[in-house]
Amino acid sequence: MHDLVVRGGLVVDGSGSAARAADVAVRAGRIVAVGAALGSARQEIVADGLIVAPGFIDVHTHDDRLPLVDPAMAAKASQGVTTVIAGNCGISAAPAPRQASPPPPLTLLASKSAELFRDFARFRAALEAARPSLNMVLFAGHSALRAAVMDDLSRPANRRELDAMQAMLREAMDAGASGLSTGLYYPPSQAAPPSEVEALLDLVAEHGGLQTTHLRDEGDGLIEALDEALDSAHAAGVPLVISHLKCASPRVWGLARTALQHIEAARGRQSVDFDVYPYDASSTMLRPDRLRGARRIVVSWSEPYPDKAGHDLAVIADGWCCSPGEAAERLSPAGGIYYKMQERDVRTILAHPSAMIGSDGLPHDRHPHPRLWGTFPRVLGHYVRDLKLISLESVVHRMTALPARVFGLADRGRIAEGMAADITIFNPDLIVDRASFDEPLRPASGIERVIVNGLVIREGGHATGVRPGRILTRHDMRSRASQAEPAS
Ligand SMILES: [Zn+2]
Repeated sequence: MHDLVVRGGLVVDGSGSAARAADVAVRAGRIVAVGAALGSARQEIVADGLIVAPGFIDVHTHDDRLPLVDPAMAAKASQGVTTVIAGNCGISAAPAPRQASPPPPLTLLASKSAELFRDFARFRAALEAARPSLNMVLFAGHSALRAAVMDDLSRPANRRELDAMQAMLREAMDAGASGLSTGLYYPPSQAAPPSEVEALLDLVAEHGGLQTTHLRDEGDGLIEALDEALDSAHAAGVPLVISHLKCASPRVWGLARTALQHIEAARGRQSVDFDVYPYDASSTMLRPDRLRGARRIVVSWSEPYPDKAGHDLAVIADGWCCSPGEAAERLSPAGGIYYKMQERDVRTILAHPSAMIGSDGLPHDRHPHPRLWGTFPRVLGHYVRDLKLISLESVVHRMTALPARVFGLADRGRIAEGMAADITIFNPDLIVDRASFDEPLRPASGIERVIVNGLVIREGGHATGVRPGRILTRHDMRSRASQAEPAS
């Protein structure tokens, strides 16, 4: 007797091979059979006309503290996501900064340092106590390490500070972090030279971890910034993931193909992957010094002026009779949505056969970018079904098996016997993102059921209240994989 059988669906198994009609049986949190006539089960799910896919892996999130605020993780569960990778862009919920108020962009996670965690062991314990619905993979952020150790962030770390950061990074990795994220674009890390990053990456290499990076520059200096990231990761021998690849200034519009060729060329000497979100606007902290090149900027949150969330920066500046830069100063700490990419570059990157999908959603923003609630259904509805830019099988692969391999999640990302039962069932004709720039909090439709570790966490557009998520680590995966290996 199985715990659960999904009958009558079209299985897109994550490998990239063609969809096929098959039933899927689950027992004790694992997929135990895929095929026909699988026998009876305590719970039957009828999936006629629906796609049965591995649960989606959101490879780029800032969901570190989301389980503490919303353990159902509705913004992601509603999109069919079953695992989130958190701690990106140099920003993580541990270790907490020395200052009582986190320096931006750590404010994207919390406005007070007291809401962050002294070390990863405490952070992980808090997540586990919250019992999230989804699985999580954690990264330690370079900016967080700097803010935890340094009083002056405007210079490179000295020897003593580097030692302290290494000790904290070691603690993070021992507590289950999968590696280091960097965000040299951001003020707390801008002064860090490659040697500082490489010293930390050496430690990541020792632990078998990887690096995710928000490049130093996604605008005019995109290609140089790509080279810097590739060289540092190569020097340390660490696999690299370039986060939210984009061409974000008029001078680099049209260079998506060039950037991709750069990455492909680097693959001859090192392990490098990348992700993208399906929108031509970005979102991050509002930086008065980085307003240039955007067609339009919308405030996503502001601590001193919360009522300005959702308003145009230019209109606010007009009302205040000041420049947009001055308005941004007054609004800070704040976040913004920047319209500064071209759709053709977004499509070129999205169409690349190894582009992973990462929402980069900001769950604590008052008026967030719609990518928080819309990313995965938007790719499947808008780009796959409506525009036919990419095939369903290719994109499901890049949402599941590919990220599972990149992040060392050996038993996730495929519908196959023995895999953890993370399963998303959706209607390919109806799936659509409903979150828009004007109404960013509207859940997507077309996701019929979401199963995490063998348990249904969402059905009919509602959370079931079951919360079986786990903290996943590369280390666990490696030891489990080696245990599972038959002696040969
Ligand atoms: Zn980023």
